[in-house]
Amino acid sequence: MPELPEVESTRRGIERAALGQRIRELRIYDPRLRWPVDPQMPAQLRAQRIVAVGRRGKYLLLQLEHGTVILHLGMSGSLRILEADAPRLKHDQFELLLESGLSLRLNDPRRFGSLHYTTADPAQHKLLRSLAPEPFEPEFSADYLYRITRARRAAIKQVLMNGRLVTGVGNIYASEALFRARISPRRGARRLSRADCVRLVRAVRAALNAAIRAGGTTLRDYVGTDGNPGYFRQRLYIYERAGRPCRVCGTVVRRIRQGQRSTYYCPHCQR
Ligand SMILES: [Zn+2]
Repeated sequence: MPELPEVESTRRGIERAALGQRIRELRIYDPRLRWPVDPQMPAQLRAQRIVAVGRRGKYLLLQLEHGTVILHLGMSGSLRILEADAPRLKHDQFELLLESGLSLRLNDPRRFGSLHYTTADPAQHKLLRSLAPEPFEPEFSADYLYRITRARRAAIKQVLMNGRLVTGVGNIYASEALFRARISPRRGARRLSRADCVRLVRAVRAALNAAIRAGGTTLRDYVGTDGNPGYFRQRLYIYERAGRPCRVCGTVVRRIRQGQRSTYYCPHCQR
């Protein structure tokens, strides 16, 4: 599943290719996404200029002159920047043709992605209005983390991945952040001290930022080709390293299951 760094890297790639461009045409190849794509959208978007490319959680926001396109990559979607006449692939759902001759094309085999358009304030859209704070917003502070963890018996990793409390921290970066903060993923959330919360907030941002920086580089290579930004595992400290030595202390990295997801941690560095 694309996590926040992949979505942010995609946003930056789209910004380079599409900012200031006028939309020539929206072509819908298969409207059966998570919600059916509104058949009015091609007429609504035609000839509008893209004035900003933003993001809220894992939603990409293309701000147009008269409204906003809200796009989600779902579980398996990737948005590629292609020449408009590049051959179509199986699972290409739609493409946005730009006046430059480039096109933004969504390929989404599992069709959990989504495409909406609103002329109202996008922050009030039903998909966005109840999103929890995301790691780069000031609301996601040590005080906030301390407050929301007081009454929670669940393990801290589960709390970090709870989308009602924090937006956009998925399985990979929850493991990475906890390693960076030297906190065991199994620790009860309410056992975190204030100092733990300070370290963890910093660690979440650092883990995401490292991936975004790596992804930016990867994305430049893939823009204009038939690629996928993928995951940036070359920069990961702990994720998928079970049985191998911890990069810090050499202890064997362990893998456990938490809520049907794999968690990786160092039993020596993380307490
Ligand atoms: Zn270690």
